[in-house]
Amino acid sequence: MTSQEILRNVFGYQHFRGEQENIIQHVLAGGEALVLMPTGGGKSLCYQIPALIRPGVAVVISPLISLMQDQVSALQQFGIRAACLNSSLTRDQARAVSGQLRQGELDLLYVAPEKLMTPRFLEFLDTTQLALFAIDEAHCVSQWGHDFRPEYTQLSILPQRFPTIPRLALTATADGPTQRDIIAHLGLQQAKVFIAGFDRPNIRYRVIQKQNARHQLLNFLTDEGHRGDAGIVYCLSRKKVDEIAAWLTTQGWLALPYHAGMDKEERKHNQMRFLREESVIIVATIAFGMGIDKPNVRFVAHLDLPKSLEAYYQETGRAGRDGLPANAWMAYGLQDVVMLQKWLDRSEADEQHKRIERHKLESILGYCEMTTCRRQALLAYFGEHLPNPCGNCDTCLEPVATWDGTEAAQKALSCVYRTGQRFGVHYLVDVLLGKTNERIKMFGHDRVSTFGIGKELSMEQWHSAFRQLIAGGFVTVDIEGYRGLQLSENARPLLRGEQRLYLRKDIKPQKKNQNKYSRSSRVSFTDTDKILWEALREKRMELALAQNVPPYVIFHDSTLEEMVLKRPHTLKELAQIPGVGTRKLERYGQNFINVLDEHVLQYGDTSPTNAVTPTSNEDIILSDSAEITFEAFKQGLTVEQIAAQRELKPSTIYDHLSQAIEEGQLELRQVIKLKEEEIHEIEDTLLERPAEEQHTLKSVFDAFGGMYDYSILKCVRSHLWRQVKEPANR
Ligand code: ADP
Ligand code: ZN
Repeated sequence: MTSQEILRNVFGYQHFRGEQENIIQHVLAGGEALVLMPTGGGKSLCYQIPALIRPGVAVVISPLISLMQDQVSALQQFGIRAACLNSSLTRDQARAVSGQLRQGELDLLYVAPEKLMTPRFLEFLDTTQLALFAIDEAHCVSQWGHDFRPEYTQLSILPQRFPTIPRLALTATADGPTQRDIIAHLGLQQAKVFIAGFDRPNIRYRVIQKQNARHQLLNFLTDEGHRGDAGIVYCLSRKKVDEIAAWLTTQGWLALPYHAGMDKEERKHNQMRFLREESVIIVATIAFGMGIDKPNVRFVAHLDLPKSLEAYYQETGRAGRDGLPANAWMAYGLQDVVMLQKWLDRSEADEQHKRIERHKLESILGYCEMTTCRRQALLAYFGEHLPNPCGNCDTCLEPVATWDGTEAAQKALSCVYRTGQRFGVHYLVDVLLGKTNERIKMFGHDRVSTFGIGKELSMEQWHSAFRQLIAGGFVTVDIEGYRGLQLSENARPLLRGEQRLYLRKDIKPQKKNQNKYSRSSRVSFTDTDKILWEALREKRMELALAQNVPPYVIFHDSTLEEMVLKRPHTLKELAQIPGVGTRKLERYGQNFINVLDEHVLQYGDTSPTNAVTPTSNEDIILSDSAEITFEAFKQGLTVEQIAAQRELKPSTIYDHLSQAIEEGQLELRQVIKLKEEEIHEIEDTLLERPAEEQHTLKSVFDAFGGMYDYSILKCVRSHLWRQVKEPANR
């Protein structure tokens, strides 16, 4: 199969996204690659498809031992031959996997780096045909990153030991220094770099001033309609995690704690529930979530400031991997700054590291103080330019109070320039305020033109201004050097007076202003849509439980949503829904068609494409499922017998038969035993109703006080519609 065919038939997707196709072609040709793609961007296909095409097994290196089994299950659901090897397997399980490997029965093998590095395993690989190495979460190789894993640095032996096997490094977060580390440590100097951009347009960013964090969190959850959603709440300390989880529970939310101080089993259990159930809120320290690939996390809330913008981006990035709307919400206060500063001062790290950490802290503070689009700033931090404000963050949706800081910014920028672009914020503020300390005298900066020109602002205001300049990308900080500020290209128009700059005013307690935000609701579901959505989710959960896998490996939310919107009636129609590949269609297609059929029977066909008056519905074609029922009925089986044989509810069978009636293939009287007057009475009642009520049948059902059940009404309705449609026949 070609990569396009695999995409369609195995994964059920119609088109490649962004760079996927180029990356796959590059790897298929034996090339090496560094892939930077945001979470949810579709990195996995970039190695999974080549793994299926290239001969031999693809080795995927990942630090996420606890999630490997789910990743493997997800692949197996697509009918892909995958397995994993890590310390969590029993000896027998490991032996079985080795056997499969030896027999060439695997296309993908997930391994932990420490497992890969054992001499025995390396020797084993020497004699195995290898398709490629995929190094997932590649930023773990870098000390600058926030997830440094020493085992990852040993991967540098791969190019020496397996020089002909293509290597593919993938990550969602890597700033400049981290990217350089990945290339150096993994020997990817020849690799082609694919940068897909970092934007996560479906995530709505919001930062509020912290007052009463608990109640603010509760308001957020309720106002945004997160009842029933899965989400993550991050706190800095273990104690706070326990408290918030307990408190949310008392408020009627299903919240579970997760932190490194907990009993290992309990922690694992909570993570499992989060992955396996639909609406669990995990309250966690940052120990939780590295690579959590649950696609339908609908919100990430921070009750404390993360240590860096990368951490923030990574943590918030766990929301909305499925591409559907999601919230990233943070309550931030000055106490956070004090706490992090303390944590930094106490840290054992060397000076260079501390300098880097401090800079990172300043960047995230700047982000909190943004007056302009947060997404633009976040992307700028990763070196990406978003030309227009996003319209999907709080500052875009609800502009903040500002002051014209153009002149202050010009003074600050000139001061950076006059002192040689080598000094940090503290020093620059001292110069602006005209302080004469030893260092300033030594460098002769008490004689530069910007000395003492900033006395109209306080020290705090200058600090805030500098942070905003950093966050806005007007100056950059030399992280690897001495944290000196340097002017960037963006500073020019400001210095020349071609651009005005507005700075955020001192943050005042925010008035409660709930209704300004509209719910970032997924799609516009009607009430009946919601009922169908829940029914589909229930079916998915039932199938997942039966196999002990997370529900999303059966179908993603986005796939179920498409089912709600498109209302497929046949397996063929279902196959058109994104995410329904051949294998899943075979395994689960009928299960979901049944749910869809049941729904139509109960509520009528209320889908947008079918909500039309019956007369315009010219050629009804029996669904595959209805065809089978019809055949059985013609053979003389009763409704109950067919239902038992097909493991369907009798109501579904009636629904199929009503389709046949509407098509003119069956007479009403062949299906139900009612007196002529009764049929007329039902028909009259139907005809009195507007079209929607004819569709839902509810008011007709009520009019008879529930005397006729929906199956009967539906058949009579089909009979009626048949006559309306073809009056000439009568
Ligand atoms: P990443 O590893 O980059 O975070 P994944 O590989 O898990 O992202 O993909 C994110 C989601 O997007 C998954 O649900 C995946 O099935 C889906 N996806 C990936 N590629 C495509 C595509 N070409 N068309 C539709 N959906 C896709
Ligand atoms: Zn914005």
